[in-house]
Amino acid sequence: MADLRGGIDLGGTKIQTAIVDAGGEVLGEARHPTPTSGGPEDVATALESALREAASAAGVEPKDLEGVGVGSPGDADGKTGVVSGARNLPGWEGSFPLGETLSQALGAPVRVGNDVQVATEAEFHLGAGREFQSLIGVFWGTGVGGGIVLDGRPWLGRGAAGEIGHMVVKRGGAKCPCGRKGCMEAYAGRSAMEAEARRQHGEGAKTDLFKLMNKHDKDRLTSGIWERALDHGDHLAEKLIDRAIEALGTGVASAVNLLDPEAVIIGGGLGVRFGERYMDPLVEEMSKHLFVDERPPAIRVASLGDLGGAIGASLLFAN
Ligand SMILES: [Zn+2]
Repeated sequence: MADLRGGIDLGGTKIQTAIVDAGGEVLGEARHPTPTSGGPEDVATALESALREAASAAGVEPKDLEGVGVGSPGDADGKTGVVSGARNLPGWEGSFPLGETLSQALGAPVRVGNDVQVATEAEFHLGAGREFQSLIGVFWGTGVGGGIVLDGRPWLGRGAAGEIGHMVVKRGGAKCPCGRKGCMEAYAGRSAMEAEARRQHGEGAKTDLFKLMNKHDKDRLTSGIWERALDHGDHLAEKLIDRAIEALGTGVASAVNLLDPEAVIIGGGLGVRFGERYMDPLVEEMSKHLFVDERPPAIRVASLGDLGGAIGASLLFAN
């Protein structure tokens, strides 16, 4: 079945796989937790079994697929299939030949790409960005990732383009998980927001965020916990989300000033959950910084949901 492709979205907490036909239709899918110990070989084994499960759901053998694409964190080299420095995966500080390893295991060709870039391309070809020729994808989740499509083609730079979360929105500002200061992600990333909530809570700020986290048996402030706190009118949650929106508006507007894209697609766990709810404040924050403010880009919430990354990875075999 030469027109079927596999897609794998390799995330820090979960592995999502899908078997996708030439029209972008998902015929089978599977989701497994990402191994939290071991090393790249163990992650590769988990990818293989998750892909086999999706293939079996679609009634196809992996070896009969046209190819399998992997959207990976870290530095994913599309030419060699090597993934380096995927620091949120166990034991993956160095380089690992993921493409070759997985290709041997599955008996099908494998290509690797950046996870956020492939999710952006999925929205561009099949999702919220279909009607546009140029766009920026902003994936607002644990961190803030970005992807770029210009004139219908991905812009990868020298391999590291799209790091919109590390656009500086305040010189000498808050410490970012990347170790630098004042990045957009230092204010808007879920992980940085949680650190700031803990700090302020520790200093006596009143909030139900951590009570809600314990009540719902979570070990971190998920987007769902933030939403519940906001629904209860939690002041600290409101303050930190407003601060995140302000940072996003500033950073995204700066990126728009540079590239002048037709659209901005907001995805990611927080983006999908809060994109519509905070659309007006986000547009307002952006408008303060847009150099050409009479024709702002369209802002859309990503429409492919949790499967976007896997579908986007399958598109690594689209041409
Ligand atoms: Zn940073």
